[in-house]
Formats: sequence, C-alpha cells, structure tokens
Amino acid sequence: MNVKQAEFVISALKPSQYPEDALPEIALAGRSNVGKSSLINRMVHRKNLARTSSKPGKTQTINFYRVNGQLYFADMPGYGFARVSKETKAAWARMIEGYLLNRRELKGVIQVVDVRHPPTRDDRMMYDWLKHYGIPVIVVATKADKIPRGKWPKHVKQVREGLQIGADDPLILFSAETGQGKDELWSTIAALVSE
Ligand code: GDP
Repeated sequence: MNVKQAEFVISALKPSQYPEDALPEIALAGRSNVGKSSLINRMVHRKNLARTSSKPGKTQTINFYRVNGQLYFADMPGYGFARVSKETKAAWARMIEGYLLNRRELKGVIQVVDVRHPPTRDDRMMYDWLKHYGIPVIVVATKADKIPRGKWPKHVKQVREGLQIGADDPLILFSAETGQGKDELWSTIAALVSE
C-alpha cells in the first residue's frame, strides 16, 4: 500500500467510541513494550503518530489510526504487564475480548512478538485464543535489527515453534528501525482486508 495519509482518530475506552465509518480494521496485539507503536509509525511513515510510550501498560484504550481513508489500525493495550491489579487485568480482558469477538469491521490481528526471545506464556495464550475463535492472525516478529542476520533463521524458527504457527500461516520478520518486512506486511494486510 502506498500510504498517502494517516491520522490518529480516537483513544476509545468503550465500544460507543469506536469509529462508525465501517472501514475494515486490523488490530494489533502484543506484550507491552514489544514495539507495536513503532510498527504502526513505520507502516505509515510517521515518526510519532502512535506514541511510543515509556510507560508500558498505562494505555487501557484501543487507539484507532485511519490510513488513506481505507482502513484502521486498532492498537490494543499491551498485555503481560506484571505490575497491574487483578481488576485492571480483568477489565483489560473484557475490553479486548469484547472488541475481538464482536467487532464486525475486524479483518484480522497483527500479533507482535520480539524476535529475540522465545514467545512468552502470554504470547502463546493470545495466539491460541485468536486461533480458537478463527480470527485471522499475522504474526510479526519485530526488532530484527537487534540480532545479526545470520541468526534470523534460528530465531524465526523459535517463534514459529513457540507459538505452533501452522505452515500456511504468515510469520513476518520486521524491524521498525530499518523498515524490513514493511512491504510484506502491507501485502498480507491488503489480502486480509480485501477478503
Ligand atoms: P509498544 O509498547 O508495544 O507500543 O512499544 P514501542 O513501540 O513503544 O517500543 C518499545 C521500545 O522498543 C522503544 O524504545 C522502541 O524504540 C523500541 N523498538 C520498537 N521496535 C523496534 C525495532 O524494530 N528495532 C529496535 N531496535 N527497537 C525497537
């Protein structure tokens, strides 16, 4: 996709605040601090559209970004942040589940993991949950620039095996720093959105 325009639309706390123009939506899921905001910024060539936050876990809203007037990125709050209360975790789960299960406009989820490390228990739970409900998932293994090129295959395998990603399911190696994987991710998104 040739991104000509991208704008932040709303930080939604509840469904009544979600956009109403019925454009297709691609949600982003991932551990706090994994690099979701940086991925969005890279995908739309903007340095600071999605705030890359220094306070992981603080955002409890779904942030909607409209791209080219054609689709939305719906950035969901990061999971796996230890220092939050049970109540906060429960509220998070209700919001995310409600969105993922009920949102008609949702075409699929980009699940972002850190290519340097084996997927965490939370990563596995999220992936299994999405698969269970038949929601299309694109796994993006980000921060590729942080490991030497020669080690990429080993790390990609670690992610694929850690999440038990099916042979036909996409896994894209990405770097918000270098832009690696951007075109492949756009074509995979375009295919989902046009389905
Ligand atoms: P979020 O909490 O998932 O939105 O994560 P952020 O996008 O705020 O990123 C967390 C930290 O990781 C920031 O310091 C980013 O600069 C850094 N980061 C994110 N993606 C990459 C990447 O692809 N390469 C490198 N080297 N750093 C990254």
